[in-house]
Amino acid sequence: MNVRQVALWTSIAGVFLWSWVAPGQQPRRIDDAALRNAGKTGEEWLSYGLTPGETRYSPLKQIDASNVSRLGLEWSYEVGRGGGNQEATPLMSNGTLYNITNWSITYAVDARTGKEKWRWDPEVNRGTVQPKICCGVVNRGLAIYEGNIIVPVIDGRLVALNAETGKPVWESRVAYPQNNYTITMAPRIAKGKVIIGVAGGEFPTRGFFEAHDAKTGQFVWRFYTVPGDPSKPFENEDMRRAAATWDPEGLKMGGGGSVWDAMSYDPDADLFYVGTGNAGPWAADARKQGKDKDNLYAASIVAVRPDTGKLVWYFQMVPGDEWDYDSVQHLMLADVTIKGQQRKVIMQANKDGFYYVVDRVTGKFISGQPFARVTWAKGLNEETGRPIINPESYYHEQPVPIAPSNGGAHNWAPMSFNPALGLVYVPATISGTRAFSFNSNFTYNENQMNTGQAGGRGAGANVAPAKPLPPLPPPPGIGPLAPEGAAPGALLAWDIVNQKERWRAPAGGGSGGGTVSTGGNLVFQVVPDGRLIAYTADKGERVLEIQTGLRGGMGPPITYMLGGKQYIALAGGQGGRGAAVVPNREAAPGTTVPATTAPAAGGRGGGAQVAPKLLVFALDGNARLPE
Ligand code: CA
Repeated sequence: MNVRQVALWTSIAGVFLWSWVAPGQQPRRIDDAALRNAGKTGEEWLSYGLTPGETRYSPLKQIDASNVSRLGLEWSYEVGRGGGNQEATPLMSNGTLYNITNWSITYAVDARTGKEKWRWDPEVNRGTVQPKICCGVVNRGLAIYEGNIIVPVIDGRLVALNAETGKPVWESRVAYPQNNYTITMAPRIAKGKVIIGVAGGEFPTRGFFEAHDAKTGQFVWRFYTVPGDPSKPFENEDMRRAAATWDPEGLKMGGGGSVWDAMSYDPDADLFYVGTGNAGPWAADARKQGKDKDNLYAASIVAVRPDTGKLVWYFQMVPGDEWDYDSVQHLMLADVTIKGQQRKVIMQANKDGFYYVVDRVTGKFISGQPFARVTWAKGLNEETGRPIINPESYYHEQPVPIAPSNGGAHNWAPMSFNPALGLVYVPATISGTRAFSFNSNFTYNENQMNTGQAGGRGAGANVAPAKPLPPLPPPPGIGPLAPEGAAPGALLAWDIVNQKERWRAPAGGGSGGGTVSTGGNLVFQVVPDGRLIAYTADKGERVLEIQTGLRGGMGPPITYMLGGKQYIALAGGQGGRGAAVVPNREAAPGTTVPATTAPAAGGRGGGAQVAPKLLVFALDGNARLPE
């Protein structure tokens, strides 16, 4: 059978199945209206960020500060070993939990009992794909639409599975690993389309995201984030405009601008938002450009029409970036009153250390302040939001220590919002530094990572780096520091109107785990050492701490309600590619992993392999945690 026959057969089978499952219990149809209203009751978790604006705020309040100490494990499900950490956010719909694990293996279990309903393995050619993966064999999530689960396969495919049976309905090709592309992010749905981006920014790639018809898989449009080979014609005027912000020599190396995490959607504004990765190779010297080139649309938010993929506005956080400041972190939408005015905003706690608030209809900058130590910039222009870059932070052969590090002040760990308090909970790495330096012996290699650095993975791997030189002094810093002797990771409660920290809790970091916020005045945080922690949302008082026993490779928590009971679910555990913890971040070559992302010394993760699990908690749950 070809793909079309499979699709036809499955849709016929689907009709029978639905009518067969049906009497009295027709599964709820997840269409555009259901997704638009997702999160209003909190009963189900239908998309990666819960709501189209990706707030990860659930109004559920059965579990609250007064009873959360009774939280216990209800059941666990072993997700299977193989490749890396658990980074995925599960979905819950019609009483079933869906999730994705290493090598894009997707599973469905009864959300009340953990009994497996189905399991699907895309049979990725692991040997071929592994060398093209920069940062661990991970996938961050799924989408659900009209009876299908839409699966991003790390080898560049997009596959729809029947939600009831786990059988393939359609399959589409987004990109090929032979061209250095992989897919790690969760697909999103807007106006009947599934939208997905490609990872691989440190490889010689040209970043893009594209839309497929969510019912058939058929390709609809593609948006390139960078202009591409200058010897070829531009696809559109936006690419021509972008090309003027590059040196043509640099563009021959792909350009980067990969799309590997954040998207959000405002159905009223008819705008779909995407965060884009850093320009590649990192060093501006490797791109053979001066400091006057902005490199559009890398390190930016772009807003496009979901029907056409046409650019409406862009906002670039890091013009001419050379510090690996991908701007792909969580894009969250909120409606807030700022200086007496009701504003529709899009927000990002960027890798670069600034918390940005931007008008999501016009793309106009509203405000930005450092939430972590920042030395690469002195601040942001108050009108435009353009960074005032410290001249000392541009580097050549002599290393320059820069904060944040390339791991970022905030990476992929999801934030969450409390609309009543106006607080966003940011898993952050407060003080991180990396010494950047250009390898003057660098030569571009079209089959591997190219950072142009004098040290670390992907750095001069093809050519011996120049002799190490003593580092220059660090540029002056702004923004908070971690307290003396404290780990660099923390959870910040960030006041989005006043742009300041309201409270801080000393655990976690910008990668690993993540948060969910609830109507029970709680924030749940999963931290990379395996703990599930709850704080009061307003004051940051720690009201729960459970060591899950997984000790590493932790994914974000979700919450849902079923049969009158509120649950908290999360996946965690390393996939077993050797004993070492795989650093949980895009392109971490040469960086020291913060202490908070390493397993506790002497703990189970400290050398031993951990069987990854999906853990589900509820009040008075009394199942045994993994040992
Ligand atoms: Ca990167």
